[in-house]
Amino acid sequence: MLFKTIRSTLTAFNSLAIAVLCAAVLSLSIFVHEELYSEAVTHNLDGLSNNMAHDLFAILGTPEIDRIAISTTLLRLEEYENVELAAVFDKDFSQLDIYAGRALRVSGKIGTKVSLEQLRDIQFGTSTKNGKLFSFKFIGEKAFPSGYLLIINDLENPLSRSKLSLLLKVLPLTFVVICIGIVLSLWLNNKMLSPFQKLAHLAHQIKETNDYSIKINVYGKQEVIDLSNEISSMMDTIHSEEVKNKQHTKLLMEQRRDMERLANFDSLTGLPNRQFFMETLRKSLNDADRNNQDMVLMFFDLDGFKDVNDTHGHDVGDKLLIESSKRAKRFLRHGDLIARLGGDEFLILLHSNPSDLVVIDIAQRIIKEISKPFVINSWEIQISVSVGIARATDAKYNLSDFVSNADVAMYESKVKGKNTHTIFIPTMMEDNKRRLFIAKSITASLKNNEFEVYYQPKVNAQEEIVGFEALLRWNNEELGFISPYEFISIAEQSGKINQMTEWLLKAVMFDYAKILEHYGANTMISINLSAYDLKSTRTLELITELYHHYLINPKCIEFEVTESTYLENFDMANQFFGNIRGLGSSIALDDFGTGYSSLSYLTKITLNTLKIDKQFVDNLGISKRSTLITKTVIKMAKQLDLNICAEGVETRQQMAFLVENGCDQLQGYLFGKPTDLATLLASPHQKVNTNILPFIL
Ligand code: C2E
Ligand code: CA
Ligand code: CA
Repeated sequence: MLFKTIRSTLTAFNSLAIAVLCAAVLSLSIFVHEELYSEAVTHNLDGLSNNMAHDLFAILGTPEIDRIAISTTLLRLEEYENVELAAVFDKDFSQLDIYAGRALRVSGKIGTKVSLEQLRDIQFGTSTKNGKLFSFKFIGEKAFPSGYLLIINDLENPLSRSKLSLLLKVLPLTFVVICIGIVLSLWLNNKMLSPFQKLAHLAHQIKETNDYSIKINVYGKQEVIDLSNEISSMMDTIHSEEVKNKQHTKLLMEQRRDMERLANFDSLTGLPNRQFFMETLRKSLNDADRNNQDMVLMFFDLDGFKDVNDTHGHDVGDKLLIESSKRAKRFLRHGDLIARLGGDEFLILLHSNPSDLVVIDIAQRIIKEISKPFVINSWEIQISVSVGIARATDAKYNLSDFVSNADVAMYESKVKGKNTHTIFIPTMMEDNKRRLFIAKSITASLKNNEFEVYYQPKVNAQEEIVGFEALLRWNNEELGFISPYEFISIAEQSGKINQMTEWLLKAVMFDYAKILEHYGANTMISINLSAYDLKSTRTLELITELYHHYLINPKCIEFEVTESTYLENFDMANQFFGNIRGLGSSIALDDFGTGYSSLSYLTKITLNTLKIDKQFVDNLGISKRSTLITKTVIKMAKQLDLNICAEGVETRQQMAFLVENGCDQLQGYLFGKPTDLATLLASPHQKVNTNILPFIL
């Protein structure tokens, strides 16, 4: 486009220049022609008038002036068509004769006399005035003239005619010259502009395609070639810069994506992280609040994840987290958002306010899926998940309360025995506050001796006391009496159980001598240990130290553990049990019949005593199934050489059944409730029957 304009402008300019040039040449030639013409005419007239003056001198030089001869001489001017007038004067300027030329005759302006005034204005010699050429000559010697000759020649009209004829001759040629000039200029323009046109076309192409790798092929004058080469190399530079820029931009984009990912996503699972989730939740809560809609949040925490990490290492732990999150994701609907809060905690924001039924269905599916065994690094790992569910309305759309409610509900699931889900209800908040208070108070209460050890007797078939189970009691200043069922699990959850066990062990070992003194040297004292105590190496050290310190007979100490202590890790449990037996003490499996209660597990671990749970004892004679199971358990335990203790015996019938089926020991309110040491020592002296002491390896 630009080049078309340039080309037409150039062509117009060239044409104009040629026309102006032609006009200038024409004007100049006319001017020169005019000059030459005037000069020639003047020269001719001068010559003519000189000749005639010479001839007239011969006539005027005679005494008798021959006027006819003058007229004849003047008539010679007839052949000069531009001579208008000629007059001959004597030496006194008296007109002797006058000749009117053809030009004057045609116009009819013939004068007969040239006045003296007219003559005065005319210079001698040849001169021009008002388009006329005057030739005023002396006849004879200038100093003694015989007369004068005046010839007036028309200069203007012949000059015009001459110019016109010149123009008529020259104009066609000029026109031809202009045409040729324009054609030439067009051709030259084309030839000169075509490389530029190519460059322009190229620039247009680059603009359209943004492709700087296009090559230029322009042939022409060296300057144009140089220019195109320079443009080519400039384009090469641009192209390579463009490639570099693209790579740089790509790198920057990748870095930006990485930064975003780092800022908003968990690097391990690839799930959104806490920050991203909380931001999204905040917005969703605001929207829900504005639209008066409810929202559901699910908090889930893997049960026993820490043990997997401790036992199998972080690599397996990490893979377990990845796999667990993948499994959980399978049950989410489009629009649900799952995030990893950190550790083994995950949050799920369920969209579109689902009903409790839908929420429970999702929770149950996740629980079921995660409890299926994982195979990681050729280990078969089984874990479970505790789920807490909360609704935004219960938290009054407050972000931290919403998350905290889901957390509290999750904790409730843990308390309920894990591998389950709980929907938050406002009273749980109170429970949670109480739990936090209890957890916080444990350390100080242990120091202040708010705790106390109670002892519950265990009897043989003859109802003779064979030993005591040490049971913790806590009477808190603010909360009053707190059940061990409550504070033991809180101590376990809050990591305070080890210090509690340490306090208990010290207290029992301290009481040991008095109890044995009162009830005999064979009295067996049972101490409950938590699964967390088995994992702490300090437990065994402490027991050993205390045995030495209080001169304890290890055979008089039994440790009660629940199935949970070995279910997670048989090897570790067996090692601990082996160490305890190595010291000379025994192990009793508590609460048998609750939880997993697989008889086959009993072959995997080495125990001394099996404690049949109160649940079974309660149902003896009521449920046929329970009765049958209890019978089978006792029989099998016997085959495994295990001592059997039944707990929670409250009736004579229960006792009769148990004794009849071969139960060695009995424990329950029927024989005595747990009592403090003072009460225990105040009761009538009763020696323990040594014949039915549990078998100790
Ligand atoms: P456990 O080890 O199974 O203890 C037996 C529980 O049953 C005791 O409750 C006892 O008071 C109760 N009990 C015994 N006989 C009867 C009966 O005939 N009828 C009824 N209804 N209950 C009976 P307690 O003392 O409240 O302890 C609850 C649980 O707390 C214990 O169950 C044990 O698991 C845990 N616990 C108690 N003290 C300690 C402790 O010092 N260390 C550890 N690790 N856990 C303890
Ligand atoms: Ca127990
Ligand atoms: Ca028990």
